[in-house]
Amino acid sequence: MDKLVKSIAESGFFRAFVLDATKTVQTAQDKHHTLSSSTVALGRALIANLILASNQKGESKVTLKIIGNSSFGHIISVASNKGEVKGYIQNTGVDIKKTATGEVLVGPFMGQGHFISIVDYGIGNPYTSTTPLISGEIGEDLAYYLTESEQTPSAVGLNVLLDDKDQVKVAGGFMLQVLPGASEEEIARYEKRVQDMPALSQLLQEENPTQAILAALYGEESYKILAEEPLSFHCDCSRERFEAALLTLPKADLQAMKDEDHGAEITCQFCGTPYTFTESDLEDLIHDQA
Ligand SMILES: [Zn+2]
Repeated sequence: MDKLVKSIAESGFFRAFVLDATKTVQTAQDKHHTLSSSTVALGRALIANLILASNQKGESKVTLKIIGNSSFGHIISVASNKGEVKGYIQNTGVDIKKTATGEVLVGPFMGQGHFISIVDYGIGNPYTSTTPLISGEIGEDLAYYLTESEQTPSAVGLNVLLDDKDQVKVAGGFMLQVLPGASEEEIARYEKRVQDMPALSQLLQEENPTQAILAALYGEESYKILAEEPLSFHCDCSRERFEAALLTLPKADLQAMKDEDHGAEITCQFCGTPYTFTESDLEDLIHDQA
């Protein structure tokens, strides 16, 4: 089962979140039928947002918008700090690989743009924060966001590995943060370990992926597990929600949907679920509006 593990170094000066999000990203691919580069970009965005959301307190939700000016278009996701995430990528069909290695390319097809996080604490006045995209690889963009916007020096690794049929094989990541009071020497030690650690795609294929990533990040240093939280792709859309949206339309529009289109089909952009409204459903809504 997918999970996020929160940990802190015994010294108290470093903390790490590590994630196995394989099922979550597989579900996103199943729902959106994404091709290789789009799968990896969307998957990394979902993992990035799970990290952002798990960093919030209370009943908060984080909307992450990654807006590029190249092939992908925008990637939008919403994550709760209960480990649920939903999201979509505007262009699901980007499929570009290096000829020699088969490596799936992401950064160059994001282009220039912004990394925008909107935190909704459930009490109004959502808090928006924006940083420019640094490489478009999303992991580096998240690290830059955390370091600049939240003022916490951070290292981030995100990985979505595809099999030879371009289906998600493993997905996950980590965020390692330096807390106030860490010595230069300690920071250098952690930096070196992050640079030298095995590829994330390899650690994610171990029997216990989160433990393997923690072991690589902390090396010989002792650490404590603070929490373990389940992760999943979950969309909270419902027929009632789309009915409520239809009710906000002008009566003439609903009438036209009924008389000219003989019904309406609305597809949830976050999960692809279709909702069908027949002529008589629309008639009821028009009646409700009056
Ligand atoms: Zn949905």
